[in-house]
Amino acid sequence: MKITMGCVAQPGTSQNNNTGSWRTGLKPRFLHLRCTACDLCSLACPDGCIYGNGNNTYFADLKFCKGCGICCTVCPVNDIEMVPEEMLLEAAAEGK
Ligand code: SF4
Ligand code: SF4
Repeated sequence: MKITMGCVAQPGTSQNNNTGSWRTGLKPRFLHLRCTACDLCSLACPDGCIYGNGNNTYFADLKFCKGCGICCTVCPVNDIEMVPEEMLLEAAAEGK
């Protein structure tokens, strides 16, 4: 989609665009320690990019995550934290 000044995107178009390329510099990290599968993070995510099916299974598709932090804010058991992009890269390299 070509974005121009004053552009208003139609709702639900995040899945058609690589919205993750606009990310704020922070990413959600799902700790998978206390998750009760309440689904709030998935329901609240404005980009509809959180998936899960049971306790401690939730994750964000970072191709579409913009780093807004709403998932982290709404999680009732503090099982999501926002971390700088580099921290996730380091954790992946260390196999965490
Ligand atoms: S930070 Fe969380 S709520 Fe915001 S776009 Fe990413 S996954 Fe969705
Ligand atoms: S909001 Fe927190 S507890 Fe609820 S499904 Fe998401 S990660 Fe799990």
